[in-house]
Formats: sequence, structure tokens, C-alpha cells
Amino acid sequence: MASKRQGKKAGFRPKGNGTRPDGGPRSAPPVAGDRAGRSSDVGDKPDAGRRQVLKGSAVLMTGLGLGFGRGATSAKEASAIATASGTAAGPASPPSSPGFTWRPPSAFARQAEVPGFRGSARVVVVGGGWSGLEVARQLKALKPDLEVVLIEKRATFFSCPLSNLWLVDRVSLDVLTHSYHDAARNNGYVWLQAAVVDVDRERRVVWTDEGWLTYDWLVLAPGIDYDYSPFGVVDPGDMKRLQAHFPAAFKPGSEHLTLKRKLERFDAGLFILTAPPGNYRCLPAPYERACMIAAYLKENDIEGKVVLLDSRPEPGFEPDGIRKAFRDLYQGWLDYVPNTRITGIDVDRQRIETNHGVIAFADAAIYPPVRGARLLERLGISDPARHHFAAIDPVTYHVKDDDRVLVGGDARPMPFVKAGFAANYEAAHIARIITGRMDGRDTEPLKSPGIMCYVAVNAYPLQSIAFKISFGWEFDRESGGMRFVQKAQAFPRRSRALGKANIRWGQGMFQEMFYTPL
Ligand SMILES: Cc1cc2nc3c(=O)[nH]c(=O)nc-3n(C[C@H](O)[C@H](O)[C@H](O)COP(=O)(O)OP(=O)(O)OC[C@H]3O[C@@H](n4cnc5c(N)ncnc54)[C@H](O)[C@@H]3O)c2cc1C
Repeated sequence: MASKRQGKKAGFRPKGNGTRPDGGPRSAPPVAGDRAGRSSDVGDKPDAGRRQVLKGSAVLMTGLGLGFGRGATSAKEASAIATASGTAAGPASPPSSPGFTWRPPSAFARQAEVPGFRGSARVVVVGGGWSGLEVARQLKALKPDLEVVLIEKRATFFSCPLSNLWLVDRVSLDVLTHSYHDAARNNGYVWLQAAVVDVDRERRVVWTDEGWLTYDWLVLAPGIDYDYSPFGVVDPGDMKRLQAHFPAAFKPGSEHLTLKRKLERFDAGLFILTAPPGNYRCLPAPYERACMIAAYLKENDIEGKVVLLDSRPEPGFEPDGIRKAFRDLYQGWLDYVPNTRITGIDVDRQRIETNHGVIAFADAAIYPPVRGARLLERLGISDPARHHFAAIDPVTYHVKDDDRVLVGGDARPMPFVKAGFAANYEAAHIARIITGRMDGRDTEPLKSPGIMCYVAVNAYPLQSIAFKISFGWEFDRESGGMRFVQKAQAFPRRSRALGKANIRWGQGMFQEMFYTPL
């Protein structure tokens, strides 16, 4: 990240297309991107080694959010830290964290444990969600001699798609959860379980909490983060409390487990759900979840009600099919409140302030607006003007000043749906861009076929509605440039057949991503 600027300051220039920027062997340890970063300085000098640890120190600060902003990794601030502490190993204790005992971050200073480099080039993919898993799989299919390393911090894959059905026991947990070992073994790539904390784009090095590794191409697919600030919640402590008590359950894993427990214990009162403004992750999911929870309350005769606070004037996707389900199935079990602006949330007193008044609730899952994953901001490749989604060229997918780094999945800034099926389709396109470029070929801009997507609206029996959607770039005669188009065709009549197709679709996707090499 900041090392890109450091390299420029020091007059560092990459050596040209396709070579590692330090010109050294792939196993050469990276150094902090300061002046010592010229190839003649790499590696064996003791103080070069210390600088490497120092860079790691600064990165750890940033990664753990301990009071040093992302600028802390700049050469200037890193050297200020070293000067202040009198040691290159970092300060004895970060000033903003009195109880914290500083230890040198040895994890950063070693090479990550991945198999020795044997392929024609190494592509590192960050994020093992719907995008990253498919990018890795498609790359191996297109070029089997590539070394592909998928870095994912979680131990187990947990699917958001179908999770609303799992909340009300219409699919079991083992439908949603899958092993990264299986995905990697069956598709011929390597899975490194680690959290990425920094990237040195000059030297093409990824820093993780399990050590560093070099890349020839890097694909970032870290998904989304939440932005609670429009609700007036800006203090990190308050955000954590809100997230712990009333998680959105729009990021996979613990949040979903918490929500399911909440539902199992819920016995009366209002259960608040929210649908935020903007192009949030999975436009139909808040409506689907409202239907599933209302169906559960109705089926189990629980004296409660779902209240869906929607920022929009009507459901953001297939309003006819969704409102019909609300009307036909959930009168008395679900209140739909459109045009709602949330202005404050009192976690302790369980009250939510809105433009319609204050609502006291028994329980809630609060879905705030989304932003690009914080990792992108830390790496200096997010666009603050576009909710910190990736600052990439929307047609070629690469970071604006670096064609070796591409971003896919929900972290992209393009206006099409933030959905697993879209991330999955686009992943094959990203893999084609990379392998095409390796062979000196350009790839046509993305243009998807119509892809079916299902939204469950009843749980007992399981019934879904559906839509067919296509998205991509078209040549625009008027402007002489490319124009983005998205078209959707609705199938708003709910049916058991579409309910079954919904589950079959998810199972088919898991089968492909985890168990079926191309
Ligand atoms: C309730 C719900 C229902 C949905 N239903 C559907 C549906 O029916 N159909 C559909 O198509 N879509 C659906 N979606 C949307 C779908 O889940 C997302 O669009 C999809 O997950 C996006 O994929 P992604 O790879 O971009 O992000 P993710 O799937 O979130 O993956 C990102 C990955 O990056 C990892 N990561 C992040 N930072 C780091 C780091 N620093 N180091 C290492 N790893 C990191 C994360 O752990 C995560 O595994 C639904 C979503 C929700 C919440």
C-alpha cells in the first residue's frame, strides 16, 4: 500500500513487464519499501532485516486498528516510530493503548508456508467467498501450470445464499458449510488460511499474519464491510456493541449463528429488520428474510411480529411478488414500513429512532449501508467517493494505476447486483482477463447471459419467486464509448417448483466451487 508511494519517493521503478520488481529470485525476502528497497540492498544486511520487521510493526498497528492510521506504514512515520522508540523493532507500547505490551511481529517477517514456487506464474487470490473461490478454480482450469494460492482467513466456508432458509430449518447447516481443503484439493490450487494485512505493490508481495508471499498477479475479493455512520453510530466501540447485540447477518459466519439463536429464543414483541439504501449486498435478501422469519413466527404461533424498516419506497427487487407475499401470507405477522430513515439506535434500551418515530423492540438484526471491505482502504485502493468500493477500471477490472492487481466480487464499484451468482459469473471473466494478458490477448468486456435468481417468500411449504438477470457492457453508438446495462425479467408468481429450484441452484453452485474441477 503506502510502499507504492515510498518506492516512488525513492525513485524506484519496476524493471519492466513480467519480471519481479526487485529482480530477485521468487524466494527472496521482501524488505520494507523504503530506500533500502533497491535490489542491491535486498535481504542479507542486518539493518535491512530490521527495517522489514519495522514495516511489519507498522502493518500490525494498522491491521489491529490500534491507533495508527493507514499512514503509519509510510516510510516517514515508520521511521518516526523507530526514532521515538530508539529501536527498529517498534515502540514499547503504542501510545493509545496503555495496557498493550508490544511484541515484535515475527509472523510478518517470515515467508508464508506455501509450496515452493513451481508454476509458470503465481496468482494470489485474496478472499475465499463466491468470487475468490471461482477465480481460483477458473484460473487452474484455463492454465493448469499456474500456481494459484487462495488466501482466506476463515477456517470454513459459510454460505450467505440459502442462509435465510437455514434460519427457519428448511436446509441444514451442512448444505451451507464447506471445507476449503476440499475446494483446494479438488481444483488443484493451494489454500493458505491467513488474514492479509498489507500488499507491497512495487515488489508484488502480500503480507499476511502467516508470513509473506510474492505474486505475479493479485486478485482481491474481500467482500463488504458495514457502514453504521448514517445511523449516527461512529465510535468503533459502539459499532462493535451494536454488531454484537443485533448483527446484520449479511457477512457469513458468526453473525448468522447469532441470528438463528435469537430466533429460537424469541417469544414475543417486535423483531426489527432493516433494508438499507444503496446497492447493498443481495437486494432481495432483507425481504426474503422478513418472509422467512414471519413464516416461522406464524408456523410456531409466536406472539411476535416482524417489522421491516425499508429505506426505499417499495421493495428493491420484484416489488409485486414480494408485496403480494406480504399481503397474502403475513398479515398480522409482518409490518412493512417503507421510506424509513434511521437516525439513532439505543442498544441498551432497545430503541430505534426513525423519521416515523421511536420504536421499542424485543430483538433485531440491523443491516446498515455497506461499503467496500476495509482491507481495500488500508491498501489505498478504495474510492472514498464511492463508499470505499475498489478504485478499479470498471471494464478491465484492474486497479487504476496497477494492471497486476484486479478486484472482483461485492468489493467492485460497478452498479450491478451484489450477489453470489454475479460474483461467480464475473470470476470466470476475471480469470480470462488474467490468462489472456499472460498470452498477450485482450478480453472482451463482461457481458453476462440471463442468470436465474430465486427469492424464497414462504417457508411452509417452501415457495420462491424468481428473476432472470443479465448485466454487462455494450458499445454505445451515441457516445462512442462503453455503456453499462442491467436487465431483469421477473417471475413474480410464487411456487413450490421455484422453491425447489432455489435449493437445487445453491447445491449446484457448492458442487461446482468445491467438488468439481473444470
Ligand atoms: C442473507 C443473504 C442471502 C443471500 N442470498 C443470495 C442468493 O440467493 N443468491 C445470490 O446470488 N447471492 C446471494 N447473496 C449475496 C452473496 O452472498 C454475496 O454477493 C457473495 O457472498 C459475494 O461474494 P464475495 O466473494 O464478493 O464476498 P464474500 O462471499 O463475503 O467473501 C469474501 C471473503 O473474503 C475474506 N476476507 C476478507 N478480508 C480478508 C483478508 N484480509 N484476508 C483474508 N481473507 C479475507 C472473507 O473472510 C470472506 O470469506 C446473499 C447474501 C446474504 C447476506
